[in-house]
Amino acid sequence: MNKLTSEVGTEYRQKQSILWGRMVLNIKPKSPLAGWGNYPISSADLFRPERSHQLSQTQGCIIPRGLGRSYGDAALNADHQVLLMERLRCMLDFDEKTGILRADAGVTFEEILDVFVPRGWFFPVTPGTKYVTLGGCVACDVHGKNHHWSGTLGAHIKELEVVLADGSRRRCTPKTDENLFWATIGGMGLTGIISEVTVQLIPIETAYMIVQHHSTNDLDTTLDTLGNSEKDDKYSVAWIDCLTSGGRMGRSIVMNGHHAQPGEISSKSKDLSHISKKGGRSIPFDLPSWVLNSLTVKAFNAFYYKWQSRKNYPFIVDYDHYFYPLDSISHWNRLYGKRGFVQYQFVVPGENSREALKVILGKFVQSKRASFLAVLKRFGQEGKGMLSFPREGYTLALDLPVSDGLFPLLDEIDELVLKYGGRVYLAKDARMKPETFRAMYPRYPEWRRVKAAV
Ligand SMILES: Cc1cc2nc3c(=O)[nH]c(=O)nc-3n(C[C@H](O)[C@H](O)[C@H](O)COP(=O)(O)OP(=O)(O)OC[C@H]3O[C@@H](n4cnc5c(N)ncnc54)[C@H](O)[C@@H]3O)c2cc1C
Repeated sequence: MNKLTSEVGTEYRQKQSILWGRMVLNIKPKSPLAGWGNYPISSADLFRPERSHQLSQTQGCIIPRGLGRSYGDAALNADHQVLLMERLRCMLDFDEKTGILRADAGVTFEEILDVFVPRGWFFPVTPGTKYVTLGGCVACDVHGKNHHWSGTLGAHIKELEVVLADGSRRRCTPKTDENLFWATIGGMGLTGIISEVTVQLIPIETAYMIVQHHSTNDLDTTLDTLGNSEKDDKYSVAWIDCLTSGGRMGRSIVMNGHHAQPGEISSKSKDLSHISKKGGRSIPFDLPSWVLNSLTVKAFNAFYYKWQSRKNYPFIVDYDHYFYPLDSISHWNRLYGKRGFVQYQFVVPGENSREALKVILGKFVQSKRASFLAVLKRFGQEGKGMLSFPREGYTLALDLPVSDGLFPLLDEIDELVLKYGGRVYLAKDARMKPETFRAMYPRYPEWRRVKAAV
């Protein structure tokens, strides 16, 4: 939980209940709130329903919030109301034969993994943190390292229950009420409150991953490696050093992996519940903004590249280390200091992606803006969510400290992304102009028609 939301949590202990409309909810009026990037910060009245039936009683301009792990302003609602889903976290039904789980939207990925990995089930698609809710991940239609094989989370959702603005509840599936379904998958919480999610889990035989790293010297080799079917695996992602320039621009560590079969690991590791949980490390306060500068990040990148390049043979790690490396350091977002940071993530479609990435990465390198977390992934086919982000091509995500001149640079980069037919991810965004959004999301008029009808 980030600093602001944990402060809010503390204050909740001095519970305040008020009668609001027709329901009693805990409320924290005019509370400062931010996303994971700690930028922007705005205040809203916070409501926290204790029971699912209270969702039907909400009124006014309200936005649901999961764990606030979207980076920018997606789960904020300046000067209005925010509905915290954190108490609505029951797992309602599970079919051992099919792996289909029905749960409240406030259940977290961590809670589901803790229960289901020991039983031999895993998420079909997971983002890079387990501190997210089912509802938040459906609303953003999240992707994982396996998008090129498995698509987004939305492709694995069987049914949703949505509470509409008039308080009525609608169940929708890809086949019944499909317009509401595909407007809600990736709809950023704007079609209604997702109260229940039914998701297809996938079977696993161990809690471990077989991983292999491939180091590359430049962007062309990185893209060739990501697209190489012989090196490819179920999961694939590249950490990219975005401070090297010239002939070495885009040097990377491509990290491929798959769920280990029992025959691939030692007998000790075959017990599905046998993994060491990480944790305990924390960034205790906002670091001064000078800590992450181009020199320190350059030094970190050089060390990391060398260290990770050595793992060029298959090795075994548990799923927690492979999928959620950042979760081991709580409050890591404080590294970026008081002004916070934005994560800029864009996708450029296949046919133009190589040239587009060279031009856009070149622009970031030239700006000398330090990002030690830069990730490149290959996307497979576009899904059906009307406002979903992924398209077939490549996506690059960079964490950028908020500093003078950053937003004009990102406006220029938006133009380049548009020129190459790409788009920026709403779950990460904090500053995109409305006209840029409309140009990047051509199905927005269709989505608006569905929203107007509910
Ligand atoms: C370290 C890290 C790694 C990440 N890696 C990835 C990644 O690999 N791929 C990826 O796609 N994303 C990634 N993300 C982004 C994150 O997965 C998404 O933003 C996710 O939606 C956050 O879930 P949340 O529960 O915290 O939602 P919030 O951030 O609280 O909300 C996100 C959006 O969902 C809406 N929402 C929340 N709950 C509901 C509900 N019940 N009904 C309707 N709408 C709702 C909110 O209104 C908001 O618009 C990452 C984030 C972090 C911090």
